[in-house]
This record gives sequence, structure tokens and C-alpha cells, in this order.
Amino acid sequence: MLDLTLIPASNAVLPEVRINRHWIGGAVVPSRDGDGWTERQSPSHGVVVSRSARGTAADAEAAIAAARTAFDDGRWSQLSGKARATVLLKVADLIEANVDRMALIETLESGKPITQARGEVSGAADLWRYAASLARTLHGDSHNSLGADMLAVVLKEPIGVVSIITPWNFPFWILSQKLPFALAAGCTCVVKPSELTPSTTVMLAELLAEAGLPAGVVNIVLGLGQPVGATLASDPRVDMITFTGSTAVGKGIAAAASGTLKKVALELGGKNPQVIFPDADLESAVDAVVFGIYFNVGQCCNSGSRIIVHQDIAEAFTARVVDLSRQVAFGDPLDPATQVGAIVSPEHGAKIDGYVTAARKSGATVALGGGPLQIPGLAPQFYQPTVVTGVTPDMAIAREEVFGPVLTVLTFRTLDEALRLVNDADYGLSAGVWSENVHTCLAFARGTQAGTVWTNTWMDGFPEVTFGGVKQSGLGREIGSYGLDEFMEIKSLVMRIGRSRAPWVRGQG
Ligand code: NAD
Repeated sequence: MLDLTLIPASNAVLPEVRINRHWIGGAVVPSRDGDGWTERQSPSHGVVVSRSARGTAADAEAAIAAARTAFDDGRWSQLSGKARATVLLKVADLIEANVDRMALIETLESGKPITQARGEVSGAADLWRYAASLARTLHGDSHNSLGADMLAVVLKEPIGVVSIITPWNFPFWILSQKLPFALAAGCTCVVKPSELTPSTTVMLAELLAEAGLPAGVVNIVLGLGQPVGATLASDPRVDMITFTGSTAVGKGIAAAASGTLKKVALELGGKNPQVIFPDADLESAVDAVVFGIYFNVGQCCNSGSRIIVHQDIAEAFTARVVDLSRQVAFGDPLDPATQVGAIVSPEHGAKIDGYVTAARKSGATVALGGGPLQIPGLAPQFYQPTVVTGVTPDMAIAREEVFGPVLTVLTFRTLDEALRLVNDADYGLSAGVWSENVHTCLAFARGTQAGTVWTNTWMDGFPEVTFGGVKQSGLGREIGSYGLDEFMEIKSLVMRIGRSRAPWVRGQG
């Protein structure tokens, strides 16, 4: 008997099917070649909720051309930081005014709970505000101690035209980790959202225009990775590509970008561990583990998908995780009581189940869940909260990104052993430690190969605090002031003061 907490269909009335087209040069435009469309069925409700133009390479090229012209004529890059900040702040206000509208379609396209979609959209407004503050404060360096006759300054300049490719799991948040920072820097952009969740990106176009962003500064082209994303990665008129998505596609993007040596920034997958010591506040740790694995149905780059628990407490701790998992509300994403919604696609659900089946076959124990979940009145695209014990570090379920509500449990005896398990991974996005001993926490933080380390918390983030991965979790950083720097080129300006330079030819002797 599973004994889970389920929220049945709320029978909410769904909005009309949304139509999305490209946004190029400040106008809504149809596809250039043919009239291909991609329909998005709601993962939770099983009905079509949006229909989006399926662009071709020609559409991507038109968007790049618009961004290139807009950058080169200086309509945005030559504005003062104050003027750029004014637009970004207006965008933030407009996002806040449209939270409900945007959150509803985000929920229907992605399957995530409405409360979390609202949080994502309103939280994104804060990213726009923070980026506005950076637009006004960005500056380079000066070198005033090179000698009496020399002065050098290091200028920061916008890198140019930036391609932005985003995934489906946090469509509006991830867009907002990139776009306002690129705009604060003075760049122009071409954006390709995931074909599964394009609507909030297209809605943003209207808000950008209303906020006074000049035409052509942001262009949105809809379609599949091939050919649209691939064109954004390889076109010589693009100066930088910033991508969030799977490690496999990220590697392909780096290869495609190498032909023109454009700058590449990648935010990729993770297999993020939380290590629990016996002296931890175990109640808080259990709650954070449950949050870390089920938030967004585990479809998070930051999902805390493997816990590494001290052997002395492993059995009792896992039992508490299983108990608390039963209390998490899985069900209709449109019901505000729901905490966990639907899996993004049937194919992805099958992939999740494949990992659990393989682990079972290799001798692991499924302590909870381990199969699809039918929510009364909704589409068959949910997965049970799942806890897998008896896992060994070599199993695929312990090493690869499952991207579902599936937690694996490993055990350790010493800090060194825990660190070996943590670092024995291709990924290095985030990691966490639970202990009341500050020395344990600091030793863990120093020894961990990860872009972010959380101590006694999980998945807390702030616009001020930079984010990114090491190893195969990515290249470069987002948000914080480092996030702005990614979109800037550095130019050194070296100046002689007066006529003090001895001639090279006749000044030798
Ligand atoms: P994905 O790699 O399948 O797709 C991401 C985007 O790339 C989509 O817009 C897709 O259309 C596009 N794309 C696909 N093939 C392409 C190609 N050949 N050239 C250019 N673009 C192409 O990823 P997904 O399934 O949408 O998202 C899930 C993945 O994203 C997970 O691996 C997750 O860990 C990762 N992710 C990472 C972060 C982070 O910040 N590190 C955040 C969220 C998601």
C-alpha cells in the first residue's frame, strides 16, 4: 500500500490555446519557410495548451541579423547605464503585473504547481531589478602606479550579440538568469526557448516593447534544437552563446561554437549530493532532503538526487525520509495545495522508470514508490515519490542525472570517505552538508568539487550570489556580478602622459 498524499483534478477551466510566433526586429513575424507548428500538450491535463511556430535556419538567421544590426548601430550599447537600468526596472514591474497570466501558461506547459510557477515568475522580476543595479554600477579598473608617465585603464565593453538557449524545467527563471544581465552589459540577444515551454518567453517580448526596449535588441526565434539552436550556436555573427540544458547537448553546442571561437557559457546537469552527519539537526535535514528531491518533480539541475548518510543513522534517517515523502502533495498543478506536479513528457517518464528498473535488477531496494502514478482525473504523466536504498556508487542511478522524483541513498563512515563519494562524479554543480560542527562543514566545503556548497540548507539562491558548475556541469557563471562579467569583453587602454618615451631607433645609445 503506497499511502501517498494525492490531490485529484481540480476541474479548473483551462484558457484558450495560446498561439506563439517569432519576435524579430521588434515585430511578431511568421516563419519564413513553410508553416510548421509545434503543439504543446499539457503534461498534467493532456490537452493542447499552446501552438508555436516551428522556425527554420532562415528564421534564426533573420533574428541574428536583427540583433547584429541593433548591436552595431549602438541603439542599446551606447545608452548610459542609467538609461538601460530604467528599461530593466520597467520590465521588472511589468513582469510582476503579469505574474498570474504567465504562471498559468507556465504551469500548463511544464506541469509544475501553480504556486511554484508564480514564485518562479515573481522571483524572476527580482533578477531583472538586480541586473538593473549592475547596469548602473558596472566599471573596469584603473592602474595609477605604473610610473609617473603612464596610466592604464581596463574597460569593460559589451561582448556583442548573444545567443540564449533555454530548457523547459524553469523556462522563465533561467531566461531571467541570462537576459537581463546580457542587456545590463549592453548586449543584443537572440533567444530560443525550449519547444516544450515557449510561451512565457514570447509573452516577455510584449513586456520588453512596453518597457521601451528598442526594436531588435531582443529577438525570439521558436523551434527545435536542430536547426534553430544549432544555427544560434554556429553563426559567425554571434559573439557568445549561453546555454542551459543537458550536458550532451551542451557538448554539441561547444563543438558547434568552436568553428568561430565564440565565447561559450554552459549551465548543464548535476548529480548533487547531500551529506548527513549524525550530529546534524536531523529534522531540518530530512525536510531539506525531501524538498531537494521532489521540488519540480526532481526535474532540477540542482536536484538533491543522492544523499550520503552516515552509517550509524542511515536506517533511521531513510525511514524518516520515506515517511515524510508520503506527506508531500502530488497532484493537479492547478490546485494551490499541490507541491509536486507532472513529468514533462511520456518519454521522460519512461527514462526515469528505466533507471529505477535497472537499479532493482542490479540488487538495489526500492524503499518507496518506483513506478508511474495515476492522479484521478489527470493525464497519466505522474511518477511516484521514490526512494532507492542499497545503491552502490557504480550503478547508473547513483551516477547519472535521473531528473525525476527518485532519491538514492549511499552511506559513509568518515569525512574523507564522504568526500570521495561526493567527488567521484562527472558532475560538479552543487553539494550540501548537514552537521552542527562548523569544522566539519568548512572541511567539507573546501574538499568538495562543486560550483555551490550549501551547509545546513538546500537550494537557497539569491540574485547577488553567483551560480554555475565545475567539471561536466558547465562553464562560466550566472547571476551575481560575475554573471554580468560573462557578457563583457575586457579592453586594456595604456596611455603615456606627456612626451617622455625614448625613441626606439635612435634612443639606444
Ligand atoms: P536539452 O539539452 O534537451 O535542451 C535544452 C535546449 O537546447 C532546448 O531549447 C532545446 O531545444 C535546445 N537544443 C536541443 N538540441 C540542440 C542542438 N543540437 N543545438 C542547439 N540547441 C539544442 O535540455 P532540457 O531537457 O530542456 O533540460 C534539462 C537539462 O537541463 C538537464 O540536464 C538539466 O540538468 C539541465 N539544466 C541545467 C541547469 C543549470 O543551471 N546548470 C538549469 C536547468 C536545467
